[in-house]
Amino acid sequence: MIDVLVIGGGNAALCAALMAREAGASVMLLEAAPREWRGGNSSHTRNLRCMHDAPQDVLVDAYPEEEYWQDLLKVTGGLTDETLARLAIRASSTCRDWMRSHGVHFQPPLSGALHVARTNAFFMGGGKALVNAYYRSAERLGVQIRYNAPVDAIELDGSRFVAARIGGERIEARACVLAAGGFESNREWLREAWGQNERGEWPADNFLIRGTRFNMGVLLKHMIAQGADAIGDPSQSHCVAIDARAPLYDGGICTRIDCVSLGVVLNAKAERFYDEGEDFWPKRYAIWGRLVAQQPQQIGYSIIDAKAVGRFMPPVFPGVKADTLPELARKLGLDEATFIRTINEYNAACRVGKFDHTTLDDCHTEGVTPAKTHWARPIDTAPFFGYALRPGITFTYLGLKVNQEAAAHFGGKPSQNLFVAGEMMAGNVLGKGYTAGVGMAIGTAFGRIAGTQAARAAHTARHAGAAIQASREEEHATS
Ligand SMILES: Cc1cc2nc3c(=O)[nH]c(=O)nc-3n(C[C@H](O)[C@H](O)[C@H](O)COP(=O)(O)OP(=O)(O)OC[C@H]3O[C@@H](n4cnc5c(N)ncnc54)[C@H](O)[C@@H]3O)c2cc1C
Repeated sequence: MIDVLVIGGGNAALCAALMAREAGASVMLLEAAPREWRGGNSSHTRNLRCMHDAPQDVLVDAYPEEEYWQDLLKVTGGLTDETLARLAIRASSTCRDWMRSHGVHFQPPLSGALHVARTNAFFMGGGKALVNAYYRSAERLGVQIRYNAPVDAIELDGSRFVAARIGGERIEARACVLAAGGFESNREWLREAWGQNERGEWPADNFLIRGTRFNMGVLLKHMIAQGADAIGDPSQSHCVAIDARAPLYDGGICTRIDCVSLGVVLNAKAERFYDEGEDFWPKRYAIWGRLVAQQPQQIGYSIIDAKAVGRFMPPVFPGVKADTLPELARKLGLDEATFIRTINEYNAACRVGKFDHTTLDDCHTEGVTPAKTHWARPIDTAPFFGYALRPGITFTYLGLKVNQEAAAHFGGKPSQNLFVAGEMMAGNVLGKGYTAGVGMAIGTAFGRIAGTQAARAAHTARHAGAAIQASREEEHATS
């Protein structure tokens, strides 16, 4: 029998598999995707948010535990488990050497990336290179890897893991790590979670999925139905405003529109609806998908002028360009009169001080609702650009409740041999909101913990099994 079965094929699963194997366990990893699509959402990532008390290789200055924790507290509005959050934060300060030992390389951030040079370590080659390095290392260490292996059921004995099922096939193991992502790829479940709005619309029908198509939440649903304790609200997620022209799945990072804080965002009625300059973009980009989702037709329009060009990472599709504001309104299909009125009101309300996109500067509006509290400058310099925005779901926050050992809980009690990592439990730390790089921090910390604990549980089970066998043999010999 295999010691540790790891279900999933992204960062959390790979961290768990590698740790369990390093601890001496035999390990099998089951990835739902075919080899060429392996790695889940992790293959789309770029960086890891890291605590550090002093400059460390690619990270400048310091980002101490307390600041990291306060950032997390602020974005989640307190919907977080402090013990588990601090555990992930502390682990982020020491995991990079281990990651390097499995072939992951880091690089300083590209210029124009979010303001994260101090806080986030960037993967050289992105998340694709990271998962490829982990797969190579796992293969080298003797982890058995199976692709096209979507697990559809888990067999339990009370809260103990017994076996996983893929259709008619049954795979037993002494311990198991569930790291099969959220349910963001499951459009039906998203529809159910978001429901119908007051306008009679089903907002989720207009969502795009930024990452993998394989995170259908099959095991999440199955485990909750089997009595595993759940945590989080199914409608909460990391949801970003992305280019409306992005594909339904796997558009990845290059479809994100990062110029929101440099201009204004209008809805389908050509009206502003939120403070575009509320805070630094890495602390706010993940709320904009939800904001757009709440607007009529679930569409928004990010409008900038020539002054913003070169100050943000250009997205993959060029913006709609116009030499005049009326022309831009017409090209975007927005009501011209309302568009001009909205921009004129905003422009007149701008109190431009010393513009500095790297600080919470003093450029703000007065007398317009909603206010723009930083980086407010009139939109008055041709050419003008507009990007249509749709909500882009990154990952959902509904998950399974875990403790510091990453053990799944049933009726408030931890399982002895079933562990959970990554998106499947990120809701313990992220009740809502997000700050860039924390997804990989949670997945890396809890993936590593889950792998270690699963190996320990398997070791205990193996020895218990051997002791029972020995006593049976002794009984047999003396009878
Ligand atoms: C475009 C994009 C950019 C991102 N950028 C960043 C970033 O820079 N930094 C950051 O911290 N976070 C980022 N994130 C979030 C990050 O991807 C996640 O937090 C993290 O990857 C979660 O890792 P995971 O292993 O839990 O899930 P995933 O990497 O999604 O892995 C889940 C795996 O489970 C497999 N699976 C699903 N169901 C089953 C099943 N039934 N049986 C077997 N296998 C199954 C899937 O195929 C997949 O391999 C980004 C996400 C996206 C989409």
